[in-house]
Amino acid sequence: MAIHPIVVYGEPVLHRRAEKITEFDAGLAELVADMHETLDASNGVGLAAPQIGIGMAIFVFNADDDHGVRRRGTFVNPILIASKIPDTRPDPDEETEGCLSVPSLDFPLKRAERVTVNGVDETGKPVTLTAEGWFARIMQHEYDHLQGTLYVDRLDKRWSKKWKRAQADHGYNEPGRSWMPGVDPDPFGH
Ligand SMILES: [Zn+2]
Repeated sequence: MAIHPIVVYGEPVLHRRAEKITEFDAGLAELVADMHETLDASNGVGLAAPQIGIGMAIFVFNADDDHGVRRRGTFVNPILIASKIPDTRPDPDEETEGCLSVPSLDFPLKRAERVTVNGVDETGKPVTLTAEGWFARIMQHEYDHLQGTLYVDRLDKRWSKKWKRAQADHGYNEPGRSWMPGVDPDPFGH
C-alpha cells in the first residue's frame, strides 16, 4: 500500500468527469487500499480517485454518520439520488465545507438533506447507502468530484467572490500543485 500525493484545484483531472470502472481486478483492489491509506493520512472524511490524479469513478469515505456511528466504505461507479437543495442561504456555522484539493480553505454551501447512493465496491458487490445531514453532505461532495465538480464551483454569489479572491491569492488556478499527506503540514491543522 502507498500514500499518494493529493492534487490541488487547477489540475485538469479534477475538472473532468471520471471514467467508469470495468475491470474489478487486483489493480483496483490495490488502488482502493491506497485511497483508504491516503484518506487516513490526510485526516479527511472522504477521498475521490481524481484527487490522487486518477480519473476513475471511485470514492472512499471514513466518517461518523448522523447517529454517531463510524462508517468506512468504498463506492465504485456510484449513482447519487438527492432530495432538493433548499433555496436558502447557507449557515456559515453549520454548513461550511472543505476539500483536500482546496487546501486550508472552507466556505459555506447549501446541500441536500438526504441522499441515497447506489454503486458497487472494489469486488463488484452492490452497495447501497442512505444518509442524512452531514454524512449526506460528504456523499454529495465526493460524488461531485466524479462529475468534475468541486464544492467551490457550487458556491453562491457572495461566497464565490471570496473564493475567487482566495483562489488567486493561493494560486489554485493552475495545474501542477499537490501536497503529500503525512509529510507536508496538514492544511486544515488536524
Ligand atoms: Zn473534495
